[in-house]
Amino acid sequence: MPFFYKTDKNSSSKYNTSTIFTEEWTWYSLKSYDLIVVGAGAAGLFCAGIAGQLGKTVLLIDHAKVLGEKIRISGGGRCNFTNLNTSHQNFLSMNPHFVKSALAQYSSQDFIELVKKYQISFHEKHQGQLFCDDSAKDIIQMLLKECELGQVEILHPVSVETVEQTDGLWRVITKPDVFEAKNLVIATGGLPVPAIGASDFALQIAKQFGMNVIEPRPALVPLAFTSQIFSAIEDFAGLSTKVHISAGKLKQRYGFGQFDEDLLITHKGLSGPAVLQVSSYWIEGEPIEIAWVSKIALENLLAQDSSRLKTVDQLLIEFLPARLAKEFAKQLGIHGKKWAEIAKKTRQALIDLLCEWSVKPAGTLGWNKAEVMLGGVDTKELDSKTLMSRRHAGLFFIGECVDVTGHLGGHNFQWAWSSAYVCANNLSI
Ligand SMILES: Cc1cc2nc3c(=O)[nH]c(=O)nc-3n(C[C@H](O)[C@H](O)[C@H](O)COP(=O)(O)OP(=O)(O)OC[C@H]3O[C@@H](n4cnc5c(N)ncnc54)[C@H](O)[C@@H]3O)c2cc1C
Repeated sequence: MPFFYKTDKNSSSKYNTSTIFTEEWTWYSLKSYDLIVVGAGAAGLFCAGIAGQLGKTVLLIDHAKVLGEKIRISGGGRCNFTNLNTSHQNFLSMNPHFVKSALAQYSSQDFIELVKKYQISFHEKHQGQLFCDDSAKDIIQMLLKECELGQVEILHPVSVETVEQTDGLWRVITKPDVFEAKNLVIATGGLPVPAIGASDFALQIAKQFGMNVIEPRPALVPLAFTSQIFSAIEDFAGLSTKVHISAGKLKQRYGFGQFDEDLLITHKGLSGPAVLQVSSYWIEGEPIEIAWVSKIALENLLAQDSSRLKTVDQLLIEFLPARLAKEFAKQLGIHGKKWAEIAKKTRQALIDLLCEWSVKPAGTLGWNKAEVMLGGVDTKELDSKTLMSRRHAGLFFIGECVDVTGHLGGHNFQWAWSSAYVCANNLSI
């Protein structure tokens, strides 16, 4: 239905710039739906498809030219789409219980059933992480098909200029159309990787409607170091080894995070699953602690009679790549020396170095390298059973834009699916 929409010439909004609008009243078309979803990523596509299949008329809007880009690049191109062991313990949030209801209503098993229905073959890689055998594009195709089955109208690339609430309806103003619906879902994700369309849209909309936002920061992100952590870090770049890693002892926000994962040394510092996991718990100024070797296993080995005549390097390669074993021995000046020759004090220094290595990161590699956003729309503002705003009927926030951040391993996608599902099943109409 076409209608006239009044433009406010004094407003600073982009929508009302005089270069675009020369008159106070401008001709627009107004289209009505049961649901408008902004953001056609993992959560938005899934939510729109379900709502459409439940008989709702759905419009899905995204500003990106290509849809599902984050899904496409995820999991090294194979999309770690869920985790067999996902539970509330895999998430960081100011309210650690918030995710429980959504995960109970739509679990990783439910999503696995859907993947099986589409005959997408997958495999378990590590600690319950499920990846597509072929390509992440299979998941995108599945989500698009779900939208097609729900007769979802997808509009992209289209930018939303403003969002308003009038007479119990949500009005979404784009160029050149205006859309309205009783339900508005914001699924525009977090700030990581701006090059593929990330924006702070969700946080801006939350603030516009007086909702609290937990300060966002990059998470699952490599860490940078100013001081030299090894004698010549270039020599170690590319080297990977399993460690026990921990951070967050100050318990400032999310408590203490500790993981047994692979650590990767790069030209820029430390990365790999171990560092990505711990980065979510790390706070500026704090050290991270790394046990390169299990203390019990190391002490057992060193106590054996047969160890006395072996060199330190020979002993350490039981646990570490040879280059790294040599580096640690060199740092204590005992490279090439037999264990029996090492003074008691130096022996203890070696055990401390290998089992309680403490190093202070200078910072993270930032939004371009982060996989997810920590913080977001405060869960206190949302009903955990529906993801609807407690103060604004019909306004929902789902997926990464909410203050719910998963560990590495498929948990973030599971949150996208679970939050989308509960939202789609609880629309107000
Ligand atoms: C490199 C990388 C690898 C990852 N690998 C994994 C993995 O293997 N497993 C896992 O669980 N998680 C992974 N993640 C995290 C995962 O991709 C996200 O948690 C997930 O995509 C969040 O879903 P979402 O729908 O909330 O947001 P997104 O999938 O980011 O979708 C948001 C959508 O909103 C659109 N949008 C943004 N702003 C606007 C706007 N202003 N107007 C209109 N549209 C807008 C975007 O174009 C996008 O289409 C990875 C992330 C990265 C960066």
